[in-house]
Amino acid sequence: MNPTEWFTEQAPGAGSAFSLKIKRKLHEEQSDFQFLEIYETEDFGNLMVIDGCTMVSTRDNFFYHEMMSHPVLFTHPNPKRVWIIGGGDCGTLKEVLKHPGVEQVVQIDIDERVTRLAEIYFPELCESNGDPRAELKFIDGIKWVKDAAPGSVDIIIVDSTDPVGPAEGLFGEAFYRDCLNCLSENGMVIQQSESALYHLNLMQAMRGAMSAAGFEHLQTLFFPQCIYPSGWWSATIAGKKTLDGFRQEDSANKPFATEYYNVDIHRAALAQPEFVKRAFGG
Ligand code: SAM
Repeated sequence: MNPTEWFTEQAPGAGSAFSLKIKRKLHEEQSDFQFLEIYETEDFGNLMVIDGCTMVSTRDNFFYHEMMSHPVLFTHPNPKRVWIIGGGDCGTLKEVLKHPGVEQVVQIDIDERVTRLAEIYFPELCESNGDPRAELKFIDGIKWVKDAAPGSVDIIIVDSTDPVGPAEGLFGEAFYRDCLNCLSENGMVIQQSESALYHLNLMQAMRGAMSAAGFEHLQTLFFPQCIYPSGWWSATIAGKKTLDGFRQEDSANKPFATEYYNVDIHRAALAQPEFVKRAFGG
């Protein structure tokens, strides 16, 4: 097989790689912030790659977008105001807007080009962008949170790239401190927290920074995501108040369709593997 027919992402330091068979490259550009590529693949639909890392495929993005949104929205007692930091492909935004109780969602991505390309190559992820509750801003999420008024949001979803380049500051204590300040009484942050198999040190550092910033309650959820390194991904919720349990009855009776998320998946995602418990000191 000609290797040029494959897009391959190597996982640095993990001695592994993941490949997708491609039909053709649809687009590439250097934006002001990152190198963006779009491929048409053989079996995964379209694929977006940022700085050499797989971000979104048509076929499997639902795992990630549903798990970045529904668990935290069903953990908060009454979420009305939501911010998405990053998330430029708009898949998380679409999931958040499925919750009828949510009144306002502001998506803050540093790179407008990601959203413009998603509109062309992932139109199904952008189909709710015209919802009157949604607002798209194209500025640095770190600055947005720093400048926000205290208590002005219920949930912050950090749907970012890996902690390099423009996203590096989104994994630091100063950012989490600013998040804490602008969250309302029962406020929560959820952030994609990479792979426990490959990036356990990063997860520990991230949880440490959240705690140091003043978030006393942390919860890490696990889910599959085959196009990301190791195929096994996570998200971490940091709460101002206790995170014991979630609104199971509301989750079981959710008034919208999903592909992956349901109340049993939510319960299962909260189970912590033994090596992770040891690493987190549990
Ligand atoms: N699902 C993906 C993953 O985990 O690999 C993340 C996808 S999403 C497209 C990541 C977005 O974060 C990108 O569009 C990027 O522009 C945005 N981003 C990176 N740093 C940012 C920052 N400081 N403020 C706002 N958005 C940022």
